[in-house]
Amino acid sequence: MALPLVQSLLTDLVRIPSPNPPGDTRAIAAHIAAVMSAAGCETRILAPPNKPEAQSVIAVWGAGDPVIMLHAHIDTVPIAQNEAQHWSVDPYEAVVRNGKLYGKGSVDDKAPLAAMMTAILDAAQRGEAPQGTLVLVAAAEEETGGRLGTRWLADAGHLPQCDFIIVGEQTHNRAATAHKGVMRATVRATGRSVHATNPDRGVNAITAMARAVLALEAYHRDLSQRPHPMVGVPTCNVGVIQGGSTANAVPDSCAVYLDRRMVPREDPAAVQAEMKAVIEKVQAGEAQLSIGDFQVSNWFESTVESPLAKRFLDCIQKELGADPGPIGYLPGSDAKHLTGAVRGEMVIFGPGSYEVAHAYDEYVDLRELQSTTTILIAFVSQTLFNK
Ligand SMILES: [Zn+2]
Repeated sequence: MALPLVQSLLTDLVRIPSPNPPGDTRAIAAHIAAVMSAAGCETRILAPPNKPEAQSVIAVWGAGDPVIMLHAHIDTVPIAQNEAQHWSVDPYEAVVRNGKLYGKGSVDDKAPLAAMMTAILDAAQRGEAPQGTLVLVAAAEEETGGRLGTRWLADAGHLPQCDFIIVGEQTHNRAATAHKGVMRATVRATGRSVHATNPDRGVNAITAMARAVLALEAYHRDLSQRPHPMVGVPTCNVGVIQGGSTANAVPDSCAVYLDRRMVPREDPAAVQAEMKAVIEKVQAGEAQLSIGDFQVSNWFESTVESPLAKRFLDCIQKELGADPGPIGYLPGSDAKHLTGAVRGEMVIFGPGSYEVAHAYDEYVDLRELQSTTTILIAFVSQTLFNK
């Protein structure tokens, strides 16, 4: 029996490794472009000048409004040293067992990509004139933050204004409309080093930092007063501490690395000012405390009130017979880079769970993937063909 189209597309995608790092997506981009061109899409392969091997694909089918973007990323996390021995199958073979297709990237993010490709191929083979445009964005570089993938595509003007965007990630086929953002920062303490026979003559940077860490812990607890209805509370985690060089000297430097999760609508500039204020209030004696090296990866939030969004939720409801959402999504996604490309609304949607992504024996349940495909085909059919 012939494989369902979505499964044969997914098998081919899993068998073309695209680990990031290094993030060389030329082989998989060429494959996707060939499949979509053969179906009659206008197809472009694009890469930023400073990383030409990080190729993304944009494939356009149809004409006019509404413009619907189907977005999925084509890079995967790499296979770590010693990871392969924990897999029960070859991670690049796309083995099927008990209704599940296994492989690196199988669920994150090649399953939603295969479903999106199937929906476009299905539309293209109808032989009917569509009322609207489908834009497939198969993006590189998501696993390393998207700056050289979707962010670059948006900033370089390669993305059209869209009336509705579906970002493929793992939501068990519910529509997710929010995820958190991340602010990274470094706190540094500077003291004065002396011999440990008389530590009182020095200024201990580690002791000063200990006070800062406790202040950050209190700050983290206070953040729980600000819950977001879909993604929970903002948090602040001290993840790394470094300081001192030997037990017999007073240390003159210490640093900690922070991860501050932002919920939608938190202003990154205000969060930065708030963290500065936390550190400024610490009683550090003669030691100097400072916070800096801020790096922001933004949050995402959308409403689902437009007719297109409501139609998409209806298609989910019909297929699953369950609550279509909206729900929150815990990890980040490329949705944060697409807010400038949407004049309507945007959801995150796809089979499986992010807990299975980035793990040994990553898999997608093929029945769930079939549901993803059915939902996308129904949405495209109603939107572009009024059926
Ligand atoms: Zn992903």
